[in-house]
Amino acid sequence: MSHPAHPELARTGPIAFAGSPIDRADLIRVDPEALAARMDWRAKVLLLDGLLPQIGEDGMLQWGTLADVDPEAELVFLGLLEEKACFAAVPDDGATGPAYAMPRAWAAIQQLSPPDLAIYGGARSLVDWHARHRFCARCGSATKPAKGGWQRNCDNCQAQHFPRTDPVTIMLVENEGRLLLGRQPRFPPRSFSALAGFVEPGETIEEAVAREVWEEAGLRVRDVEYIATQPWPFPSQLMIGCYSQTDETEITLDVEELEEARWFTRDEVEHAVSHARGYEDDGVETAFTAPPPTAIAYSLMHWWLEKTK
Ligand SMILES: [Zn+2]
Repeated sequence: MSHPAHPELARTGPIAFAGSPIDRADLIRVDPEALAARMDWRAKVLLLDGLLPQIGEDGMLQWGTLADVDPEAELVFLGLLEEKACFAAVPDDGATGPAYAMPRAWAAIQQLSPPDLAIYGGARSLVDWHARHRFCARCGSATKPAKGGWQRNCDNCQAQHFPRTDPVTIMLVENEGRLLLGRQPRFPPRSFSALAGFVEPGETIEEAVAREVWEEAGLRVRDVEYIATQPWPFPSQLMIGCYSQTDETEITLDVEELEEARWFTRDEVEHAVSHARGYEDDGVETAFTAPPPTAIAYSLMHWWLEKTK
């Protein structure tokens, strides 16, 4: 995939959870007969343990057949992979805690190849949404899956419900060659990342970026630029990576959100990012610990280093 607006992104490497090889096959999704015809012995079912992936000795996602799933479970149609229909079964329970409190999920994420990570992330978000949305938000009646699992319908009040994707802005803020990064109290020691926050109703992406930086660090930004997005399946955010600049340097910290926020030089960011990549440990302690390559904050920092070379 090319990124004509930002050639630096092409050198940044794939964005984790993006680039699924699955063809979403919308025409099959909306045609119950075509979908039923695909539900035979050839169909593949993504094997999950609750919401966690089952990973084989080859480090790949494991697939079974329709015979491997509970006949009572709801099935979602993920799409076509090499012409084969792919499904996943909705588990009894959705996610109960935040992503950072799921060590088994993180261990799995580190193992998977980029295409498998994208398949898993999309499937996880979708089945998790079904597990947590079995009842109508309008009237409280039980709802039923429709359109291959890309919708739920309420037979009582006729409401239609669609899988959620919640936009979150995540932003680099630059002042004369330095980046503003912050740390939340739950972060591992020494870890700093880009500031981030949900887009609120009635806001543009640019307005959300400006508001978050103002609320969390007391800085006014200008020239907000969109860089890249990442689907983030914990549970269903779309991370919207942005870059902005500020002429102000004095940070006023929102202590409810952040434990610390600081300016880091380009050399400090480059050193930390090279360590986060895992193969350039020079034994010298970095100024901070950068996010792992699975996070879009890492991709944004990598993009900025390419841009400011
Ligand atoms: Zn209803």
